[in-house]
Amino acid sequence: MLRSLTECRISLAYLVRCGTDNMWKKFRSYGAGQAKLALLKHEEMSGQKPQFVNQETLEALSNEDFFQEYIEIDLGHWCGKDLRRSADELGTKEDYDRYYGWASGFVHGQWGARRDTNFTHCLNPLHRFHRIPLPRHRMLEPTMADAINLVNSILSDVNAAYPGLEDRFPPDMQDDSDTASSSEQK
Ligand SMILES: [Zn+2]
Repeated sequence: MLRSLTECRISLAYLVRCGTDNMWKKFRSYGAGQAKLALLKHEEMSGQKPQFVNQETLEALSNEDFFQEYIEIDLGHWCGKDLRRSADELGTKEDYDRYYGWASGFVHGQWGARRDTNFTHCLNPLHRFHRIPLPRHRMLEPTMADAINLVNSILSDVNAAYPGLEDRFPPDMQDDSDTASSSEQK
């Protein structure tokens, strides 16, 4: 979730702070291209089709701005830069450094995240502290404060584009779902 929010925060900051008309159009046509690509794959697919999206939705989205035959599919990043470079140019690099890297490891199921959450040291001294799987993953740190920080930054940029949106989430807002799930565990 934090990684997604960071990506949204950096992309929006980029568009609001230095997006030309052309760039906003590109952002949109890139999205339509992604819908078309998903639609083509969906049509060609044999066997089990994904349940989280249906063909009608993809058809509607790819034909929304232009007839899909005229939509280009771009396989790179929507503005032709990677996220770190966009962040560098805009002063959102701090949020990139703060959240993106470590959170990405969790999204990609990399070793760092797995080691952190699902492994521990074997306590047999003869085994040289090799790592063994935990019976269940450890409880993770709450993400609410970081998420609120990101969402508030997003709201500030929305407010820059459309003034009048002054409300922000309080930084110390509690995560009710965290308390609910930990009491369930007990
Ligand atoms: Zn061992």
